[in-house]
Amino acid sequence: MARNINPQCRICRREGLKLYLKGERCFTEKCAVDRRNYPPGQHGGQKGHFRKKISDYALRLREKQKVKGIFGIYERQFERYVTDADRMKGITGYNLLLAIERRLDNMVYRMGFGTSRSSARQLVRHRHVLVNGKKVNIPSFQVKIGDVIELEAKKKNNEFIKHALGTIDARGGIPRWLDVNRDLFRGVVADYPKREELTLPVQEQLIVEFYSR
Ligand code: SF4
Repeated sequence: MARNINPQCRICRREGLKLYLKGERCFTEKCAVDRRNYPPGQHGGQKGHFRKKISDYALRLREKQKVKGIFGIYERQFERYVTDADRMKGITGYNLLLAIERRLDNMVYRMGFGTSRSSARQLVRHRHVLVNGKKVNIPSFQVKIGDVIELEAKKKNNEFIKHALGTIDARGGIPRWLDVNRDLFRGVVADYPKREELTLPVQEQLIVEFYSR
């Protein structure tokens, strides 16, 4: 199961944005974007240098890399999302974001069972998550309206998970489209999010344009 394993702060520095990829640690540790607000690597520039004006191509490239970085998705899988989104009815950009949002690892994160998408992904990979009563260990599993997502019984006493759920409100809260019972560590996908409810710093149309070249 391929995924982006670049150091997370490096991804934020590349995009010049705080993407909060390390969850709670982004608030307790010094943020790399604050400390070194220039792109990483040998040619990234130096402190005090302004970011160069970028081409239209680079603008679109960066937008897709940003989404891949936020969700930890590898290129080939991302391309599949774009192809599928293009085949579906409706607005391709929204279809794309919705398909990514419906990933099981993202839903576990949104329900507050992990402080970051990577910790939520680990819960899924390690078979601690049930969908409609069955263990599912595929992070990209697409959930649908009505699906019940819950943690396995032994994880419900885990201090890290209790802490994650207890601090979800400080990280933006549980979204409208998820109905979570915090006592049972269980949530239902009540609806799909509307575009304006997806608080992602992304212009998805640029991603669609990138793949339509
Ligand atoms: Fe990004 Fe968090 Fe690292 Fe800051 S601390 S660069 S927000 S992952």
